[in-house]
Amino acid sequence: MQTAETLYMVIPCYNEEAVLHETAARLQEKYTALREKGMISAESRIVFVNDGSKDQTWQIISELHASAPDFFSGINLAHNAGHQNAVLAGLMTVKEQCDMAISMDADLQDDINAIDEMVAKYYEGNQVVYGVRSARDTDTFFKKFTAEGFYKFMSAMGADVVYNHADFRLMSRRVLQELGNFREVNLFLRGMVPLIGFQSCNVYYERAERFAGESKYPLKKMLAFAINGITSFSIKPLRMITTIGLLMFLLSTAAFIWAFIVKLTGHSELGWSSTMCSIWLIGGLQLLALGIIGEYIGKIYAEVKQRPRYIIAEYLNTEADGKSETE
Ligand code: UDP
Ligand code: MG
Repeated sequence: MQTAETLYMVIPCYNEEAVLHETAARLQEKYTALREKGMISAESRIVFVNDGSKDQTWQIISELHASAPDFFSGINLAHNAGHQNAVLAGLMTVKEQCDMAISMDADLQDDINAIDEMVAKYYEGNQVVYGVRSARDTDTFFKKFTAEGFYKFMSAMGADVVYNHADFRLMSRRVLQELGNFREVNLFLRGMVPLIGFQSCNVYYERAERFAGESKYPLKKMLAFAINGITSFSIKPLRMITTIGLLMFLLSTAAFIWAFIVKLTGHSELGWSSTMCSIWLIGGLQLLALGIIGEYIGKIYAEVKQRPRYIIAEYLNTEADGKSETE
């Protein structure tokens, strides 16, 4: 067997006081087993990223770190930066201390037992291991329907994502360093990681129900996420406007010729209704086109500002403390 390498888990937490103790206990158990099997080093850590929670989340994280510093670390963000930013904050913070990192939600929907296989795949030479859901039996019909629709719509719109993969994934240190070179502010990690390349593979798992607490992704946030994903990764919607515009042009040319023939043959009572319809149609199309263009301009606006994507207020980690002293 190879020498054990260092695994960091990055867990974004937003108002997760209801699940945190359970998540921590299960992960600690898993880490103990992995260490005994010699799959991960003693320096491996579980890092909870507190994303500006309003409840006791940070307090619980601090207590976990104080009681078992060999297992738990914590990052406290200065404000709520959002799921994707919280994950990135964690990954970028740990990338110098780990050989591989796994990002996972705090609510235990991702199967902790898939971690063994992910780590094994890493040792086989994979730089990225995607956790892919094999079943969605526990999701409500609505969640299942919207989530699967999301992946289908995304790929139809030209943003390549791994089907049924969310943010449960392993990345090697090498990949994390490359991810650090992506400067965009509108984060959509599951679209960015495939762009990095390197050898990758999938690990399948069954997605469980949220252990406790409520989903922090209501429909409104999910829609915003989908729009962000599409507009960050593809210019297909812009192309569609061009296509529609071209078709409209061809149609109106045909209509013009038809109107001209009608005029010549003397039946020229061209109706008010057709005029009204075309005004509405063209007005609608123009608004749609403006809306889509506005979407991209909004993106450019956010990108050119180059704001920091997250701000770290505190980092509790015994390993990192040791390192910063010696380096
Ligand atoms: N989360 C976060 N910041 C936010 C919203 C969510 O860090 O602003 C975290 C949350 O604590 C959880 C993960 O992101 O660990 C996924 O959220 P959730 O389980 O609510 O989403 P769902 O599984 O319902 O899509
Ligand atoms: Mg969840």
